[in-house]
Amino acid sequence: MIVAPLGSGSAGNSTWFASDGTSILVDAGFGPRETKRRLEIVGGDIERLSGIVVTHEHYDHIRGAEKIARKYGLPIYLTKGTLAASGIDTDETKVVVFENDSTFTIGELAVHARRTIHDANDSACFVIEARDGTRVGLASDLGWVDAGVLQHLSNCDGLFFEANHDVDMLRMGTYPWSLKRRIMSRFGHLSNDDALRAVQRMIGAETKTLCLIHLSEKNNHESIVRDMANRVLARTGAQLELGIAKQFEPTGVFKISRRSPRASVVPRGVQMALF
Ligand SMILES: [Zn+2]
Ligand SMILES: [Zn+2]
Repeated sequence: MIVAPLGSGSAGNSTWFASDGTSILVDAGFGPRETKRRLEIVGGDIERLSGIVVTHEHYDHIRGAEKIARKYGLPIYLTKGTLAASGIDTDETKVVVFENDSTFTIGELAVHARRTIHDANDSACFVIEARDGTRVGLASDLGWVDAGVLQHLSNCDGLFFEANHDVDMLRMGTYPWSLKRRIMSRFGHLSNDDALRAVQRMIGAETKTLCLIHLSEKNNHESIVRDMANRVLARTGAQLELGIAKQFEPTGVFKISRRSPRASVVPRGVQMALF
């Protein structure tokens, strides 16, 4: 499976997944032109997308979704709560509603959705599974990592996980106290410490790639996250490819596969109701 974060952070989020001829975006926080441009940088083609899967309704995750969906005739996959809060016009845009804690398919990819805790209506994280059983987890915008999320994302082949802020930088920074409190709450974003504590529990024998995403521009720094992640990986003895997602350009192309391919147990081509 190819996974390429096109951009990550509060100024826009979108990640490209492709495998066996199926190509999707998770989140569309950039407009059609910028998404097309960034996809081309990593070897993707916006015309060949099969759908956009959305984690939640915040602007930095859905800003471009409706425009891209209409322009390229794609469905947007989202929960009922996200749809209600998104303002998407379902007369003009094809949407497919999924429920959290369920699995749906888009072409050759299976998408396992799990509810997350965040100040959004019905937010989700995902494990995307390829036909050969390769599993890649993506979770961002979490206020808290509950046992369900830990379990859902454990021992994926690739893990893309939020490390939003350094607690000291946030505390000392210029944000108003109300915003600081929101970010640090159980419905806000994960600190580097909380993120890496969770990562340590989720990485397993199959995990080969770890990429930390949604870094705060003001309250975090790539080098801090990289150092902390390297310390955790050294402690666990895990030999992983480590990425830190960038905001203003694609982070790169991660090629992720299973050490020993196994057939996926998910039946493909399950049709879901279109609204
Ligand atoms: Zn966000
Ligand atoms: Zn959010």
